[in-house]
Amino acid sequence: MSEDTRWGFETRAIHAGQEPDPRTGSVIVPIYATSTFAQDGVGGLREGGYEYSRTGNPTRTALEEALASLEGGRYGLAFASGMAASDVALRSMTRPGDHVILGNDAYGGTFRLLDKVLTLWGVEYTPVDLADLAATRAAVRPNTKVIWAETPTNPLLGIADIAGLASVAAEAGARLVIDNTFATPYLQSPLGLGADVVLHSTTKYLGGHSDVVGGALITSDEELNDQFAFLRNAAGAVPGPFDSWLVLRGAKTLALRMERHSDNAERVVEALLGHERVTRVYYPGLTEHPGHETAAKQMRRFGGMVSFAVEGGEEAALRVAASTKLFTLGESLGGIESLIEHPGRMTHASTEGSPLQVPADLLRLSVGIEDGADLVTDLLGALG
Ligand code: PLP
Repeated sequence: MSEDTRWGFETRAIHAGQEPDPRTGSVIVPIYATSTFAQDGVGGLREGGYEYSRTGNPTRTALEEALASLEGGRYGLAFASGMAASDVALRSMTRPGDHVILGNDAYGGTFRLLDKVLTLWGVEYTPVDLADLAATRAAVRPNTKVIWAETPTNPLLGIADIAGLASVAAEAGARLVIDNTFATPYLQSPLGLGADVVLHSTTKYLGGHSDVVGGALITSDEELNDQFAFLRNAAGAVPGPFDSWLVLRGAKTLALRMERHSDNAERVVEALLGHERVTRVYYPGLTEHPGHETAAKQMRRFGGMVSFAVEGGEEAALRVAASTKLFTLGESLGGIESLIEHPGRMTHASTEGSPLQVPADLLRLSVGIEDGADLVTDLLGALG
């Protein structure tokens, strides 16, 4: 039922691509731990057309159908990581001499892939504030093939107008890719707003339990999907069946978790705003956030990611990060447990000295689904 939009989001999260196993009746999709599939005579593939698990595996297919359904796309492809998905997307859509427009507040790994790998291959890129549509339009060149946007961004929670970017991309004859990792398909539907491709690090909210690394590309464009599938099969960065199953299981509760993440983030934001050592809070749910109106238009709620700056610069920020008890100091985000990190020294260290460098006094929270009051107590204790 991946294309069946009669059903609500929560229903599709549990059922899309996940019919009971026809042979045994198993209600939960089995983990097809197999590398290869028996053929009835050479080329005689059985139901589903499976031949080799790099090319296709039934557990992975279930995940891909579920993800496509949740994003409102026709096709979904799962990858070994978000970066593997980004790599396949960028290499499928560009050739040497082509140009990419990237948000100036992008995930450090995406920046590194473009800056340190794809430039060697002859791809050019320009970092732009994608919240500024005029600046984005001005950055378009005749060879621009891709506009790559995160919204909300990592780590400054900036907001880009997806429908506006889709018009800029269409005028430029370029593709718009939205990294929907922070918002998730529950909070935001980029394909419905005109994006060509949605990218996920399923490591984050879709998996939701910090126990798996994975990625995904979702599109309704058959030709693009074929190109992605070709390169994924040629290069091989596929998730194994157990990893696929973990993401599939995590995604079933996405809606419930995102509501709770958003509730807890709102409580944490309120507490941070009232603290004298907090100099700035970044959260798109705040009416004073410059992207608030756009966020309110294109998001269901504002999510579980919060960043804030503390008085006393980097040293003070590092002290706070080391002093929480419930917020675990660690990279990543989107799991049920709360995490704290210092982007400048951790997730975004690769942006140092570049236009994407992040403020030294910044801390990023992935607000989990614990008791919200406990989370506030923990943060206030660490801030002292
Ligand atoms: N996109 C965003 C917004 C991310 O935060 C991350 C990882 O942190 C990625 C992509 C890359 O995903 P992965 O770590 O699964 O390779």
